[in-house]
Amino acid sequence: MNYKNSDIAQAAKLLKQKLDKLPIAQKPTILRSKELKSLFEKVKLLPPAERPAFGAEVNKLRQHLETLVNGVKQATERLEPIDLTAPFDINVEPNKRPAVLSADDGSIHPLMIELDLILDNLYRMGFNAVESRQIDDDYHMFGSLNFPEDHPARDDYDTFMTSEGLIAPAHTSTMQNRVLKLYKSNLSHGQPIAVAIPGRVFRNEDVDVRHEHTFYQLEGVYVDKGVTVGHLIATLKSFLQEYYGKDLEVKIQPFYFPFTEPSFEFTLSCPFCDKAGCAICSYSGWIELLGCGLIHPNVLKEAGIDPKIYSGFAWGGGIDRLVMMKYDIEDIRHFEAGRLSFLRQF
Ligand SMILES: [Zn+2]
Repeated sequence: MNYKNSDIAQAAKLLKQKLDKLPIAQKPTILRSKELKSLFEKVKLLPPAERPAFGAEVNKLRQHLETLVNGVKQATERLEPIDLTAPFDINVEPNKRPAVLSADDGSIHPLMIELDLILDNLYRMGFNAVESRQIDDDYHMFGSLNFPEDHPARDDYDTFMTSEGLIAPAHTSTMQNRVLKLYKSNLSHGQPIAVAIPGRVFRNEDVDVRHEHTFYQLEGVYVDKGVTVGHLIATLKSFLQEYYGKDLEVKIQPFYFPFTEPSFEFTLSCPFCDKAGCAICSYSGWIELLGCGLIHPNVLKEAGIDPKIYSGFAWGGGIDRLVMMKYDIEDIRHFEAGRLSFLRQF
């Protein structure tokens, strides 16, 4: 591209060099660069007779840069999916090997951005965080959580198993026995056990807009002397009000889990329609958000904590669900699909 005006020609050369050096995600910033802005400002300062020719060339430069930026964007979007784990011939020249996007072009996954906010909120409420495991065993999945052998409640947690009998956990409650044991000494020092457990969980699901085989859960465990359902409700309510940035009403309804007694389903007034009814709350004004309850005495006993002295509450719910509601995301499958058009919105 040739420019008659030497100032513009010089700026064009400089801007193209700059554009080449920018990582892909930042290339569009060239259109807002100070060099380009100062050329547009210069138009106004010129004698009226010189303005049209100069202005036309500045526009031509801007359009040219735009074409280059869009070209890069389209080329990136056309990249063929590749299998990173597939073997390739190491004798192939480096430039002919399968190419991946450079790390500069990546961004943090929306669920991880939101998890940071959620954990920051819980840290300020005095919770620690411990991540759950992605492979676990029958004892932590069921036995330590007061599920009797062959109890039908085990069927509600239909997930994947290895041939050795290890389990891809169907809930983050697999960590309850571990964190109770890990922080048990807090209690003898007069401190509560307060742990948030985020983690990836798995279900053998028929996948649809609301069900995914892989998703994230957030578990909360709190133990001290004299803990009641009132503490549970107040903790969840302030956590959710902070997350959605508004006052909310909550309800609890009786439910059944083997590892809590009493057990509840925790229901939230719809943060979008303030109970008027909308598509997100299926026009009921309320959203059934998570399961919770007071930790069953057998679960405390199993971790070596005396249920006659201490009591506690626990909750578990989907992180994907919280985030879907916050941003009005209609399909849970977007999170694991790896589609750039979805991920770039965050
Ligand atoms: Zn609603």
